Amino acid sequence: MNVTMTERDSAAGATSTRYHYTRVVAMAGRTVRACVERDYYLGHSCAVVEVLNDQMTWTSLASDAPSNWWYDTPTPTHHLDASAVLGRLADDLLYRAARIVALPPTPLAMSPRVHGAISALLATTYRFDGERRIEPDEVTWACERGGALHIFEHGSGAVTFTKAHRDDCPFITSSGARDCDDECVFPDPASSSRP
Ligand SMILES: [Zn+2]
Repeated sequence: MNVTMTERDSAAGATSTRYHYTRVVAMAGRTVRACVERDYYLGHSCAVVEVLNDQMTWTSLASDAPSNWWYDTPTPTHHLDASAVLGRLADDLLYRAARIVALPPTPLAMSPRVHGAISALLATTYRFDGERRIEPDEVTWACERGGALHIFEHGSGAVTFTKAHRDDCPFITSSGARDCDDECVFPDPASSSRP
């Protein structure tokens, strides 16, 4: 999981009864905090990772049960280096948080017109009761060839689906209002086999 983490803050402390380590990072446009508190008692210890929500309060993303790590950590003392002892645990929590917050956003809302146009695309490509299951490797194959998919809803009610143009083509930058400058040429993938 390649999520860039930018350090924001960290704090560590120890007493004769407990020690704690907190690490705050920015990732995927969010602020995420891992807190590990190791108490003399297992039941008072905790390891949790939280995300700062829009109301500026912390929302829990994941936790690690103290029974998973309490026995492997030293008994609290004043002069203990909490960041050294608990750093790995905090890192693991942050990586778990990265997997959670890096999930793709909720599906794009699709207009009824685009939905109808996909129905027509299917019906005209196959037949009126067409069905076609797209496998993930076909999506990868398509994304790596031709242009990016663009969908334009025209004033006439027509809808264009195209992978025929580069992103800075006038047809794309004008959302289909201007013509292609005829400089959109993609390598023919015929030589590479279809999945
Ligand atoms: Zn073009």
